[in-house]
Amino acid sequence: MKKSNNYALANCQIFTGDLTNGIIKNGVILINNRDNKGINYGIFGNIGEIDKIKIPKDHEIIDLSGKYIIPGLINAHAHLTGDGKPRNITKKDDKSLKRLLWIARRWIGRKIIKRMMRKNVKNALNAGITTIRSLGDPYYYDIETRDAIGVGNFVGPRLLVAGRSLCITGGHGWMMSYVIDSPWDARKAVRKNVAAGVDVIKLIATGGVMDSKKIGEAGRPQMTIEEISAACDEAHRAGLKVAAHAESTQGVKEALKGGVDTIEHGAELDRESIKLFKNNPNSLKGYSVLIPTLSAPLAICAWGEQELQMTSVQRENAFLLKDEMISGFKQALNENIKIGVGTDATVTFVTHYDFWKELLYMSEHGKIDPKFVIYLATKCNSEILDIETQTGTIENGKSADFIVFEENPLKDLNVLAFPFMVGIRGNLIERPKIKKIKKIEKLKKIKQF
Ligand SMILES: [Zn+2]
Repeated sequence: MKKSNNYALANCQIFTGDLTNGIIKNGVILINNRDNKGINYGIFGNIGEIDKIKIPKDHEIIDLSGKYIIPGLINAHAHLTGDGKPRNITKKDDKSLKRLLWIARRWIGRKIIKRMMRKNVKNALNAGITTIRSLGDPYYYDIETRDAIGVGNFVGPRLLVAGRSLCITGGHGWMMSYVIDSPWDARKAVRKNVAAGVDVIKLIATGGVMDSKKIGEAGRPQMTIEEISAACDEAHRAGLKVAAHAESTQGVKEALKGGVDTIEHGAELDRESIKLFKNNPNSLKGYSVLIPTLSAPLAICAWGEQELQMTSVQRENAFLLKDEMISGFKQALNENIKIGVGTDATVTFVTHYDFWKELLYMSEHGKIDPKFVIYLATKCNSEILDIETQTGTIENGKSADFIVFEENPLKDLNVLAFPFMVGIRGNLIERPKIKKIKKIEKLKKIKQF
């Protein structure tokens, strides 16, 4: 099919992503492709039962008898630089890491990183992820990658990027961050990111697993409330949301008090935090959201230090975090706190293409049905990312982002691992191909995780 052709997906079962709309049993979706200087901006046209929709003559009919369609998935927390492959980078000392950063800044480093990013986002797209929010990458190569897709250099998912995150001296994630040590430092770093054209601001409020050197370090409060508030105020002035890495009860509470819009990872929540999630006067929309990223600790906990190429301290911290994160997630469900779906792809063993596993984990640990988890990863995520007018549901006028399956993912989330077709802005990937990471796939044969 020619890229700019209009087409109709016919005879399929459709879940629009909207929980109130239910399911269209034998439906048709019209897709209107507008070619603009070689870039496809395909949008959904009419959608409904096949006997109620007239398929215009200029629409090529794609017969999808017995197939199932859902909206394209949104990964609300990933990083574009890494692919999840175990690397001994987690064991390197600061001096060697600084050397790596020096190379990353050079043209060759830039070339290598951008190529890696392109590969990762293409892989994600072929797995049905049509939008990725990347929360912190070195320099501004994420912006360059987003814009390369935007001008049509290659077909990729919609990217929302944070540029460089903000952390304190000696803090978690310093390799991809602006180091700030005062509220004014925080404001300046946010201003630099805004000027560079980011879509969201990422703060690192507490310690983390991947670069921890002591047991219990992941979750230790790092950024002060004053610094967090200054960053939030500055971001909100520019109309941008703030995502905060926070992995302890105290850290989550302080980040919420400072006014962050999304808590990434999370931990056991106290009463004050639960209240703040639902009513947070310092946030952009008046409430905050939890994005649990269960994949990150669960993937690490499934393996030994050898396979992970991580230290025993880092692995131990992942174990501590896993239980905290699961409790926080369950509390959020019980308390009706808004929840998003993200994986933290790049963390060891968390690939860009295994996003579906996060949905499986959420369904298992939260005891929620597949339909609701798919809703969280589509419509709900689009609202959290402020892109609900563009994507997140199969709805007339929205970007034609969708996935076709041979079996019903609403019955079994494992189906999500095998997309039959993927659509992004109307561009149809008729035979999606995922370039899997050999090292990880080989280990998967030994042990399911
Ligand atoms: Zn992350």
